[in-house]
Amino acid sequence: MPDAALLERFNIAGPRYTSYPTADRFVEAFGHADLEAAYVQRCSIPALANRPLSMYIHIPFCEALCYYCACNKIITKHKERAAPYLVDLERELALVVQQLRMHTGSASGRGDDGGRAGMLSQLHFGGGSPTFLSDEQLTQWMARLREHFDFTPDAEVSIEVDPRTVNPARLQHLRALGFNRLSFGVQDFDAAVQEAVHRVQSTEQVFELVHTARQLAFESINVDLIYGLPGQSQASFGQTLQTLVALKPDRVALYAYAHLPERFKPQRRIDSLRLPSADEKVALQALALQAMNQAGYVDIGMDHFALPDDGLAAAKRKGLLHRNFQGYSTQPDTDLIGLGVSSISKIGATYSQNAKDIESYRDALEQGHLPVVRGLALSRDDLMRRDIIMGLMCQGVLDIASIEQQWMVDFASAFAREWAQMRTFESDGLVQLSHEGIEVTAKGWTFVRAIAMVFDRYLQEAQRRAQFSKIL
Ligand code: SF4
Repeated sequence: MPDAALLERFNIAGPRYTSYPTADRFVEAFGHADLEAAYVQRCSIPALANRPLSMYIHIPFCEALCYYCACNKIITKHKERAAPYLVDLERELALVVQQLRMHTGSASGRGDDGGRAGMLSQLHFGGGSPTFLSDEQLTQWMARLREHFDFTPDAEVSIEVDPRTVNPARLQHLRALGFNRLSFGVQDFDAAVQEAVHRVQSTEQVFELVHTARQLAFESINVDLIYGLPGQSQASFGQTLQTLVALKPDRVALYAYAHLPERFKPQRRIDSLRLPSADEKVALQALALQAMNQAGYVDIGMDHFALPDDGLAAAKRKGLLHRNFQGYSTQPDTDLIGLGVSSISKIGATYSQNAKDIESYRDALEQGHLPVVRGLALSRDDLMRRDIIMGLMCQGVLDIASIEQQWMVDFASAFAREWAQMRTFESDGLVQLSHEGIEVTAKGWTFVRAIAMVFDRYLQEAQRRAQFSKIL
């Protein structure tokens, strides 16, 4: 178990590396034509065109505001707002399908797939609250997707579930539609904390839903918790952790609350005097790590935990973990189609992000083009560092020989600064350094984000610039 001093020292803001470079490095000069060019390139190489795809669909609506929220969402009780948005999504889907088919005639180029646009190995509905959509709307959407795409036999089909918006019958409907993974946003079981963040849902309700999900044979059930929320104490959070352990979800995501009211308006409703102090927050994190450890959860990395028999834990043991915009995954790395406001796509060596507000998103679609507002064409250095960062975050390993071979670099001279920084992590027992490379230790997994940050060129340059301006 990491000690409190280390948790305190690494209690710093940092990217979650669902992508590298991170989305804040995307540029407006990258537009829809660049994304279209990336699709052309994908489709022109049969080996790429045949590879399965991931898809993320963003549903931005929520019925009520959680005060800690930092997501791109629209708060409304008007369910009718979903219908025109779904029309927009269909338009975007049609444009993407057109891109996938245009350059090959069909996704495989063989002409024997009935003109399908491709195969999905991963589909994720996120938000906002995807369960804002009615059962009928979700049914229609899944049917629409199946018109164009097949699913691989082991496809992960997941959806974020707000427990306040579903009941056992709705879960049954989701299962019948082909969803096999659920992620429940719980955050805290304590009633006073729930009230302080304006997200009240009973423990009984969550237990009933998880119980139903198990009976329906959902393959994996995730629960999100947040520490650092107003009103949380070690006593109350300890109780929440006990409840969580009794619930025994397959996966747990344990997020730190970052109070940034100047950036995220909803957070201005949080009474900052009720927030745990920095020391208390570290103690809450330590408490959670201890509870996860004692309950037998495997530390996957980046505040994610899984029971030993969950696919994520097995993939970690076998060195087969991957990381994408949905977090850790057992699926091989794929191109990703992001549909909906603010969604990010990853096609070939590019990232692109859609407009964040519905009006701009709709405008672009009405003009007949993909609603991209910014993105990035990755340089060779970006791609090499992405390999390194994802290797550290997923396998906990950096293999010098394979980096040198794949990227034709002399590691010692190309990464002298990073290696020197790794010495500090080594003396803290977080990594083992050798001629072969870097290995994250069991203790180091809690800090794997800080270890990866050393290889983030953009972050390191920004930090150097900040230090330099302080000196001046
Ligand atoms: S349900 Fe999620 S997206 Fe919606 S307000 Fe709450 S935290 Fe934000």
